[in-house]
Amino acid sequence: MNTSAIFELFLKNPKVTTDTRNIEKNSIFFALKGANFNGNSFANQAIEQGASAAIVDEKKYENQNKNIFYVDDALFALQDLARAYRNYLKIPFIGLTGSNGKTTTKELIAATLKEKFKVHFTYGNLNNHIGVPLTILSIPDDTEIAVIEMGANHQKEIELLCSIAQPNFGYITNFGKAHLEGFGGYEGVIKGKSELYDYLRNNHRTAFINLQDPIQVEKTEDIDIISFGTESGKYIIAPASSDSDYIAVAVDGVKIQTNLTGSYNFSNISCAIAIGKHFGLSIDEIKNGIEKYTPTNNRSQIIEKEGYKIIMDAYNANPSSMEASLKNFSTFKGTKTVILGDMFELGETSDLEHNNIARLALDYGFEYIYLLGKHFQNTDIQSNNIIKLENKEEFTNYVKSNFKYTDSILIKGSHGMRLDLLSDVL
Ligand code: ATP
Ligand code: MG
Repeated sequence: MNTSAIFELFLKNPKVTTDTRNIEKNSIFFALKGANFNGNSFANQAIEQGASAAIVDEKKYENQNKNIFYVDDALFALQDLARAYRNYLKIPFIGLTGSNGKTTTKELIAATLKEKFKVHFTYGNLNNHIGVPLTILSIPDDTEIAVIEMGANHQKEIELLCSIAQPNFGYITNFGKAHLEGFGGYEGVIKGKSELYDYLRNNHRTAFINLQDPIQVEKTEDIDIISFGTESGKYIIAPASSDSDYIAVAVDGVKIQTNLTGSYNFSNISCAIAIGKHFGLSIDEIKNGIEKYTPTNNRSQIIEKEGYKIIMDAYNANPSSMEASLKNFSTFKGTKTVILGDMFELGETSDLEHNNIARLALDYGFEYIYLLGKHFQNTDIQSNNIIKLENKEEFTNYVKSNFKYTDSILIKGSHGMRLDLLSDVL
């Protein structure tokens, strides 16, 4: 079956699924292959559960049912269908990538644009070669603007995602030390993420950019840009004084009090404001949108406990976001504890990066520094206030007997360390 025939089916029943655990009636089932399963063997079951068609890429399944159709590669077919639907939707798409802050920026942009438009945006973190197509295929056809998060951990991934989402506008949150292993070092990260700029350049489309990053300025020299971040930017957004731990900003003489902590969120917020202004929102609409957004996803979330507070930043971690998080935490008032978990996917620089972070935490003079995980165990930095523990289970036992509470506690580590679960332990 070819893409245009699948597209015809999709226009009649615009629902797609890849998982037989939640088949919607009349959806099209794509038989994808994962590490532990082969979707082909579920095709018949999908039809029995109410799917209108199943797309398989192994010939032997085709004859099981007249609604099972063969293609060379079911994943490519899914991506091609998303590309066809994206072309059919004649609306602006905003594509986001970068090492840190994609989800937060995406949520902020959507919260802002929602004040004026019908917006569809990536659900959660569905930002890869399957998530992006599924996001696009779930866009209702009366949507006015789409905001798409694009993640990558190796070269050519953003190029592929751009060929599917075809963003009219793009933004790179930052170039950081994340997925160093897959990208081949920091230079590799810059190259890989810049595939978004390559797409925008080749297709005469527009980048939003934060002028504070000289590398981004250099990379966008020959692209149409909408800038912010310094006095010479098109939109001028400045930090404003805040009497809480949350960031406030000023734009057009209006103060916006956000529900986000972490100075690194300043650029994320600024981007959302710049996009709001570009799409013609009034400053009141922008203010309302941003002030309504509260993170609930373990990304820089403040949890008030009795007598102390937890800054839960355990959604993910890499050297750049760790550094930003520690720096921000150092500005908190009162006594401070940090609980840091291993950073994954760092390749050969892993030991060095873990050492640097442990050293940085020590230099900030936090009262207690807990280092959890195998990589942190290897660091050669010792001090009376550094406590190294194998994992969160060992930490949990430690809390029962020895833990001393301070005014604030920062929790940050790679997602796989599951330090988010510690908020119930403390
Ligand atoms: P993922 O790659 O997992 O999709 P992401 O890029 O979507 O991550 P977020 O989930 O928004 O990023 O944020 C993850 C963490 O990155 C935050 O909790 C914070 O510690 C850090 N962070 C957020 N924004 C920035 C930024 N602009 N610069 C540096 N660090 C940031
Ligand atoms: Mg994300």
